[in-house]
Amino acid sequence: MRFTEYVERLSSNARGARLERYGAVVEDGREYPLLSLHTEGRRRLVLTSGFHGEEPAGPLTLLEHLPEVLAFARAWGVGLDIFPCINPSGFEAGTRYNLSNERPNNDFIRYQVAPGVWKEQVLEGEAFVGWVLFDGGPKETRALRTALHALPTPDAALDLHQDNYIHGSLTYAYVFGDAAPYLPLMQASAALVGVAASLPVDGQRSTDAQGFIRHHDGSVTDYYLRRGVPHAAALETTTRTPPHVSQEVNLIWIRGFVELAAAGGR
Ligand SMILES: [Zn+2]
Repeated sequence: MRFTEYVERLSSNARGARLERYGAVVEDGREYPLLSLHTEGRRRLVLTSGFHGEEPAGPLTLLEHLPEVLAFARAWGVGLDIFPCINPSGFEAGTRYNLSNERPNNDFIRYQVAPGVWKEQVLEGEAFVGWVLFDGGPKETRALRTALHALPTPDAALDLHQDNYIHGSLTYAYVFGDAAPYLPLMQASAALVGVAASLPVDGQRSTDAQGFIRHHDGSVTDYYLRRGVPHAAALETTTRTPPHVSQEVNLIWIRGFVELAAAGGR
């Protein structure tokens, strides 16, 4: 889909939300606006999607199902901050990275593990001295990081991805701590698609028996954990999953995260 069409359809589906432009990027001589949507509510949920351009299900879920997502959140008193298509040139071209071949994912924070020693990622349970907001990275990441950091700390944050490496129709999720709040969402998803349980997913780490994986990778999800957000997760469906099924799984988790945000927890 041309990004201009995405923007047109997003604008017409955005009734009831404030559509904002938090930046713009120029790729191959063309300007791509960076767009976000905002609504009011007693509690807050941040939805991000489209870091990786070859993972279209998230951006398309937030485009095509936007009216029902807005209505659902409104009914629960949850205000939304939606960043539906973070890497527009990659989305349009169907490429993982942007057209300059920069990698917009991760690069939100850096960990200091010893005086003067900084790391992009730490292992689960690995000790560190502190963390800082990173100040470099691709232009999409810099614009998004600035926009997110200016917003109040939300009650929940969900990042929608797909996995373009694993074969088969499967889902799994990056979470932190106790996965009990997310188990009903995984179980509801399992009615539609297989769960990638006890499976190596990124060349180094495996999911657990319930399809959850924990990793402090400096991503937006990791950043929200460090900001004290009680519920932060990144959902994955494989790109081999039929697109409408990926969208249904995304909606299960979006609704679940609206409910988790509504319940609070901080
Ligand atoms: Zn991804």
